[in-house]
Amino acid sequence: MRGIALFDSVHLLDTTLRDGEQTPGVSLCLDDKLTIARNLDTIGIDVIEAGSSATSEGERRSMKAISSENLKAEICSYVRAVTGDVDLALDGDVDSIHLVIPVSDLHIRSKLKCDNPSVVRTAVEVTEYAKDHGLIVELSGEDASRADIDFLATLYKAGIDAGADRLCFCDTVGVLVPEKSFQVFERLSSLPVPVSVHCHDDFGLATSNTIAALRGGASQAHVTVNGIGERSGNACLEEVVMTLESLYDVKTKIRCEELYSLSRMVSRLTGIQVAPNKAIVGENAFSHEAGIHVHGLLADSSTYEPLRPETVGRKRRIVLGKHAGRSSVELALREFGIDCDKIQIAEIVDRVKELGEKGKRVTDADLQAIAEMVLSIQMEPKVRLEEVTVVGGNKVTPTASVRIMVNGSDMLEAGTGTGPVDAAINAIKKAVSGVTDVRLEEYHVDAITGGTDAVVEVWVTMAMADRSITARGAGADIIMASVEAVLEGINRLMQLEEEKNA
Ligand code: MN
Repeated sequence: MRGIALFDSVHLLDTTLRDGEQTPGVSLCLDDKLTIARNLDTIGIDVIEAGSSATSEGERRSMKAISSENLKAEICSYVRAVTGDVDLALDGDVDSIHLVIPVSDLHIRSKLKCDNPSVVRTAVEVTEYAKDHGLIVELSGEDASRADIDFLATLYKAGIDAGADRLCFCDTVGVLVPEKSFQVFERLSSLPVPVSVHCHDDFGLATSNTIAALRGGASQAHVTVNGIGERSGNACLEEVVMTLESLYDVKTKIRCEELYSLSRMVSRLTGIQVAPNKAIVGENAFSHEAGIHVHGLLADSSTYEPLRPETVGRKRRIVLGKHAGRSSVELALREFGIDCDKIQIAEIVDRVKELGEKGKRVTDADLQAIAEMVLSIQMEPKVRLEEVTVVGGNKVTPTASVRIMVNGSDMLEAGTGTGPVDAAINAIKKAVSGVTDVRLEEYHVDAITGGTDAVVEVWVTMAMADRSITARGAGADIIMASVEAVLEGINRLMQLEEEKNA
């Protein structure tokens, strides 16, 4: 294939801090932007679009701070085709500008209210101005996928003559299809400077269009972490990279094993949750429930996994529910060091399915409890709640006090937190800190019924050393449900620890 050789020189421009930050509701502070920029640099991104110079004073401060980090990556600012924006970008100390000018008739007539020749004149003028001030210029056609391709070529040629270092084709509203993307880039690849592709995911085609453009001859792809960005977002870093690496056998410069931690970090800092079924980084991407799949996985993981989870810094997860089979239950029991015979396993599978049929997600704690019942093992709880009191309100720091029996001794502790649940969990952690070192890794609430009297279900993932387990609590009181889930998790982890040491 023609495009394959060209893949070798694929560059990545990450615009999580610009297009990604334009996601409705997202606003990152300077520290968050610095953290993301450092991580993008570490993972191997070539160009970081750090913001848009005209946005605000704060935005320029962030760009300046990122530029002063002396990262390996080129630091870029988005600018409109006005020299004032270029001046503001210079204030931000950036290396380069992503100079964007509308190129479709629709944008030129409705937005700019001018004509094609004046668009070319403006693009040339601003490009020359930026070059005179020592900036690297990526001249970008906005709404290029709906523009007249001959006009686009005219603009690009004028831009190159004015000194543009790179060009960019923006599928601003995500209406490109892979065939057209390939054809357009095949034509543009005859230009003497590198051309970038910038895709949006309005029809779910951003990754496909980006790959097609790269096959056609694009040298750089614009991406964002988790695909965040305006409306349905942009082409995702993790999808583009893993498609190239795994399906086209192209070695990118990206440290793939850090993709998952980068995804989690960006999700946390932006507050944009990643959908469970999202490719590569979604919660379910490496989770398996169906018995027949797990059976295959045990024999050879490639039977039902196109990619090894470790490649992107993840672990495989076997989920138990109504689709669970003998293999998955056996595997999970083995993980907990529980030995059973065939009849006992069959009984445990039945009970797991029964719980799954009721629409319940079967947690590790549930499985252990079922196994104990079937094997008639009597486990004394290691920790037991005696009392919990929580104080909250608009004028007090949320505070909780707990009295807990830990291994038979009475512990009384208090804790504060960002809210009452956090305060209660902090108090529990303090109370058990002397005997065990547990961490709360994940916390999730579902309201099962509607209304303010809804029954809630709380899921937690608790960890101790390198072992983690899931547990659940439920009830009409969110604080009590949370306390129940956390204590259940701690109990189970302490029991595992005891078995290990026994
Ligand atoms: Mn965009």
